[in-house]
Amino acid sequence: MTTLQSIRKLGFRRWYERLLIEAHAWLVTCFLALVLAVALFETHNDAVALIQRISLLTGAGFSVIGAWFAYRRYFLSLQRAEIFGEGASCPRCAAYGKLQVESIRQDAAGDVIQVAACCRKCGHQWRIGE
Ligand SMILES: [Zn+2]
Repeated sequence: MTTLQSIRKLGFRRWYERLLIEAHAWLVTCFLALVLAVALFETHNDAVALIQRISLLTGAGFSVIGAWFAYRRYFLSLQRAEIFGEGASCPRCAAYGKLQVESIRQDAAGDVIQVAACCRKCGHQWRIGE
């Protein structure tokens, strides 16, 4: 399902709510990956065999990379949520989240960068994002 279909199906408020939940799920994933990295690094010591030490350190390294990726996704999702949350009020009548999405512009990765919106209360049209 595309973002436009998702917004039209759920409505802007629920789509926005899910965007925030997704962002915080990435934050939790980042935290868990860091805990895993520390646990694997703590398990690594001189008492275990060399091959085991290498695999523990490799696992810790991949966990750190995973934590960085999760943090990036968290940060970008939260940044996007902030932009759309601020722009969800109608400039004419100030109705929050009572909008109909006319069209969406996405970047190459499929992330929403701009939404053309129409107020369901007064019919005013405006753009959210960039
Ligand atoms: Zn309005």
